[in-house]
Amino acid sequence: MVDYADQLDWQERAACRDYDNELFFGPDQGESEIERQPREARAKAVCQSCPVREPCLEFAMETNQKYGIWGGHTDKERASLKRRRARARRAS
Ligand code: SF4
Repeated sequence: MVDYADQLDWQERAACRDYDNELFFGPDQGESEIERQPREARAKAVCQSCPVREPCLEFAMETNQKYGIWGGHTDKERASLKRRRARARRAS
């Protein structure tokens, strides 16, 4: 298994490097649901064409990133993926 938390060279090829962090993490405060959804959709669109989407997602999963879009997934989607993976491990 690759340990993405220790191998961060993938970040050099991140498609989001040229974007403001706020697109992926939102403003510090005061973002409404109506504002959040289109922002996250725009961030996910950047992730769609990112060459390091998989290591980015796995890094976020391994390091329990609580906020932001990583690997095209929101925090809720990562939590859901974590539960699905845990269920799959228990079933195998
Ligand atoms: S998958 Fe998305 S958040 Fe991750 S490095 Fe690529 S563009 Fe950035």
